[in-house]
Amino acid sequence: MTRPIRATIDLSALRGNLAVARQHAGAARLWAVLKADAYGHGLMRVAGALDDLADGFALLDIEDAIALREAGFRQPILLLEGFFEADELPLLAEYGLTPVVHSLEQVDMLTSAALPARLQVYLKLNTGMNRLGLSAEEFHPGLTALETTHNVSGITLMTHFADADLDRGIDWQMARFEEAVQGCEHPVSLANSAALLRFAATRRGWARPGIMLYGSSPYPQDESAEALGLRAVMTLSSQLISVQELAAGERVGYGGIFTAERPMRIGIVACGYADGYPRHAPVGTPVLVEGRRTRTVGRVSMDMIMVDLEGIPAAGIGSPVVLWGEGLPVDDVATAAGTVGYELLCALAPRVPVTEKE
Ligand SMILES: *Cc1c(COP(=O)(O)O)cnc(C)c1O
Repeated sequence: MTRPIRATIDLSALRGNLAVARQHAGAARLWAVLKADAYGHGLMRVAGALDDLADGFALLDIEDAIALREAGFRQPILLLEGFFEADELPLLAEYGLTPVVHSLEQVDMLTSAALPARLQVYLKLNTGMNRLGLSAEEFHPGLTALETTHNVSGITLMTHFADADLDRGIDWQMARFEEAVQGCEHPVSLANSAALLRFAATRRGWARPGIMLYGSSPYPQDESAEALGLRAVMTLSSQLISVQELAAGERVGYGGIFTAERPMRIGIVACGYADGYPRHAPVGTPVLVEGRRTRTVGRVSMDMIMVDLEGIPAAGIGSPVVLWGEGLPVDDVATAAGTVGYELLCALAPRVPVTEKE
């Protein structure tokens, strides 16, 4: 018997979540965002499952994009950070990859390259995220350069929202975008998951949903994944590998951050921070044992966590444990740990064996 931790990837949930994105998108086309190894779910696995459903795949690394092409994927592939050096440009042309152009330096590299084929490009406008994108002043010179070079066959205008999941919303960025692009005939790309779900005005051109495809809510404090019609794709599960009976006053784990106030049973789970479970998850983080919701006790260690077995008398060595996924939303665990579902999903460690479920 191997160590019992597993990540199970539910491919029908993934496809169902893409269908939810599609319902919200109206006539907009959908990039499935597959960066960070498809948010920890496996790039090739997710691309295969969404092959006939997504209109294109968006990610970061040219190596990953080339691997998709070599595996036979023919749909558009968008590189969200574009290219880093001019010597990547011939590869982009050869493999038919679409870079985001977010700086005038990239515009210069692109207009002065000698390429075997013309490129589709996304031109990114900074509307207030202040991370990537041309400023309002740079935008028109950059656009004109791309419109007049031989190396570009088509341009889509994009921006990225900083507060689509928050009260501030998108109107302030939309106003800057509309002002900059007025009079331009090019298609646009605006929405991440939060904007696609909340703001009908963004359902144009090409939307870029990521987190919702994986069944996590982009704004779990306001609306759960379930309320949005999304299903968990990754279930991280394991088993109890030991049970301890504590007397009142005994402490648990490194640093003894939890003390039993009365006699109690605790279970030891084969899952720790080296599997991707967040070390900063405090005492009381939710966990399922034998399908019953209970809490962690003590500090998360590299290979184990400890859980309270009060009210679960049937629990013993071999009892099933769900860390997140089916029956326990990853967003609940993330909220308890002071982070977001994105971080937990992306952090799944390579040592965790993955199984697929259709
Ligand atoms: C990651 C990313 C997305 C997807 O965002 P989600 O919140 O996961 O939907 C969309 N656009 C860009 C530019 C991104 O980097």
